[in-house]
Amino acid sequence: MRVGVVTEIKPAERRVALTPAGAHELAGRGHEVLVQAGAGVGSGFADAAYIGAGARIVEAAEQVWADSELLLKVKEPIEPEYELLNGDATLFTYLHLAAAPRLTEALVASGTTAIAYETVTGANGKGLPLLAPMSEVAGRLATQAAAYFLQSPLGGRGVLIGGVPGVAPARVVVIGGGVVGTNAARVAVGMGAEVTILERSIARLAELELLFDGRARVLMSDALTLREEIAHADVVIGAVLVAGAAAPKLITREMLAEMRSRSVIVDVAIDQGGCAETSTPTTHDDPTYLVDDVLHYCVANMPGGVPATSTRALTNATLPYVQALADHGVDGAFAKIAGLSDGVNVRAGQITIPAVAEALAASH
Ligand code: NAD
Repeated sequence: MRVGVVTEIKPAERRVALTPAGAHELAGRGHEVLVQAGAGVGSGFADAAYIGAGARIVEAAEQVWADSELLLKVKEPIEPEYELLNGDATLFTYLHLAAAPRLTEALVASGTTAIAYETVTGANGKGLPLLAPMSEVAGRLATQAAAYFLQSPLGGRGVLIGGVPGVAPARVVVIGGGVVGTNAARVAVGMGAEVTILERSIARLAELELLFDGRARVLMSDALTLREEIAHADVVIGAVLVAGAAAPKLITREMLAEMRSRSVIVDVAIDQGGCAETSTPTTHDDPTYLVDDVLHYCVANMPGGVPATSTRALTNATLPYVQALADHGVDGAFAKIAGLSDGVNVRAGQITIPAVAEALAASH
């Protein structure tokens, strides 16, 4: 099969959908791999690395779109790419269509088979294996960002996250103990912080208790406990997710007044609206702002800040699916890998995910 990779053109996106190692795997299985010139540069991969892996470099994006039977991307197509959608091809990428009615219409009109990374499910329909690697990155980066922005010249309260002998470390409260929260807490524990994880699921509380084995406090996330914990925190990391819904506003504006002066909220859940009432999306170029003397970090695409790591983590997870699609075609791959068919959002002009159809109807 002809597998194409284009350069991401969404602003500030430096990831790429296939590494040279992935290209090497596909070429070794007899597939033709087309990579747009410069597509890997933002993640540290020169064109020569793809050529060495057996891929062919193609100058124009239009040609890659037109010639590919399977088109790999990282982010959803943006406006200038709509007219390039190829009805004979399969598009495999993050789509987040519930928030993108115009793109949904373009995919329907094109006839493209659109498979979204974020709706592919794991074995037995559990978990989201192509979302998890980016949550791992965001979680680890959240603590790193918090430690950095705790410094006084950067707006924080001037506390060293791990303390020093004789001086207490920072108190880090992580709200939500899923993939983001667990990774954030692990890094915080590793840096020597005093860590508390608030989680709502009884089953997950038990898992966290075993996982951290006393190195972090693990508490039920009820309203009173949350209020008390964040009032004494130097860092609050928002890592909640309620599937299919906006993030619950667990930190109200009123609570900010009770928080420590210049404490830092890293609201990772900002891509679902954020779990603090005062959170609004920021960018890597201008990541923080102050509200009521509490520093807010609300970067909506945190993994984009570390593209060399994020690209590798993403493609490690996507490659088995890419191989199956290339080797067996769409229906053959669905038969081979459970959960891949859950990724289909649009096929042959039909929307296959009810929430996407509802969002499109609501937009009219
Ligand atoms: P996840 O499903 O693995 O974990 C979410 C956890 O939140 C679950 O364990 C759930 O039980 C818990 N939870 C739900 N309501 C809660 C509450 N009221 N109090 C405490 N815990 C509660 O999800 P994840 O992969 O860890 O993602 C977390 C969030 O981070 C999502 O909103 C996701 O979209 C976001 N995210 C953002 C970025 C970014 O760049 N900003 C990157 C990756 C993920």
